[in-house]
Amino acid sequence: MQYDMIIVGSGSVGSAAGYYAAKAGTKVLMIDSGVPPHKDASHHGVTRIFRCAYGEGAHYVPLVLRAKQLWKELGEISGKEVLKQCGVLNLAPKDSRFMANIQKCVQQFNLKAETLSPEKVHERWAGITAPEDYAAVFESDAGVLNTELAIGAYVKLSKEAGAEQLFNTVVTAVKPIENGVEVETSVGKFRSRKALVSAGTWVRKLFPEMPIQPLRKTFVWHNAPEIYKNIPGFVITHKSHSYYGFPSDGIGLKVGKHNGGQYMQSLDEFLPYGAVAEDKTELLECLGAFLRGAGEAVHGEVCSYDMSPDSNFIIDVVPNIPNVMVVSGLSGHGFKFTSALGEVAALFGGGKESPIDLSAFRLSRFKKSSQL
Ligand SMILES: Cc1cc2nc3c(=O)[nH]c(=O)nc-3n(C[C@H](O)[C@H](O)[C@H](O)COP(=O)(O)OP(=O)(O)OC[C@H]3O[C@@H](n4cnc5c(N)ncnc54)[C@H](O)[C@@H]3O)c2cc1C
Repeated sequence: MQYDMIIVGSGSVGSAAGYYAAKAGTKVLMIDSGVPPHKDASHHGVTRIFRCAYGEGAHYVPLVLRAKQLWKELGEISGKEVLKQCGVLNLAPKDSRFMANIQKCVQQFNLKAETLSPEKVHERWAGITAPEDYAAVFESDAGVLNTELAIGAYVKLSKEAGAEQLFNTVVTAVKPIENGVEVETSVGKFRSRKALVSAGTWVRKLFPEMPIQPLRKTFVWHNAPEIYKNIPGFVITHKSHSYYGFPSDGIGLKVGKHNGGQYMQSLDEFLPYGAVAEDKTELLECLGAFLRGAGEAVHGEVCSYDMSPDSNFIIDVVPNIPNVMVVSGLSGHGFKFTSALGEVAALFGGGKESPIDLSAFRLSRFKKSSQL
């Protein structure tokens, strides 16, 4: 065997896995079709929300709390502001499940969070308004991750820790062999004991049976007055839609819609920002109701989600290839976890189990609805 572990896709999850594996003494090869961080993946656009009071469910919290520790460590080791703890404001109808889950997480894990009335929210951050029947939970040590600094740091540190890196190289197949795996690429074949497939949106090119749907998404920066520089990151539920955004930066106030978007069958359908009529209208309702000071759109970009059928992650071995772990289906909310997911994958590469219970993320939950 040439390697202990090959990483197929060294973006958000893969770059972290490369670092933690190499640091643990695992002989690792990191492969990527680009040079991460880059724009042909799901991690560009600079910022991602980091929050622990998780409306999507309390089963995510142990993983995100570990991720938080690792993000802070990465910031210290790299000397970069990977996680800016500017806080995150969750706004949702009082009686919504999302808000109930947030409150449950706060209590169960004793998270640092404040419940605010809509009036108090507006008093504290004049640029934000919310209807009277809304609840607000402000998580003060949550914040905003810088994807480019984070991935850039992991790529650099993993190399320094001894990982080999093969970038600008496409993996064409991952096959089981006796006691290991063979990875075919555009420049030859490599063998290892274990592999991680963290190939993001287009993982079905390697494993067509994975229940993953690529989804085209947009995010847009808007002109905004100074007051929007000092707001926290935010997550807003409005009429069964979900939005998120960031304190205004050098370009403007960045806002995105989490649901919606366009499912894609091939890369040809990954159209640039503005090519779909909805691109320019899907945020208007949210801006008008919650961010009334925001002005016109100044810049928009497209990115993609790897949607699982239930929008929950897939962290498992590939069916019938027990030496290959797949991390996929991050469904547009995975970046905040990727430091911890990288650590989980590195443990797998070293033949160890994660101490965090990941049973909720197994592929077997889809058994009834697919051939897996
Ligand atoms: C618009 C948008 C907003 C988001 N907002 C948030 C947020 O606020 N908070 C949050 O937590 N998450 C958010 N996310 C989700 C988060 O960014 C993704 O879940 C995460 O970046 C995915 O990580 P990944 O490692 O699976 O994929 P990627 O980071 O895309 O990495 C996959 C890598 O695999 C490589 N690759 C693919 N196929 C091959 C191949 N055959 N051979 C070689 N290399 C290959 C690619 O080049 C890429 O570098 C958002 C995503 C988008 C698109």
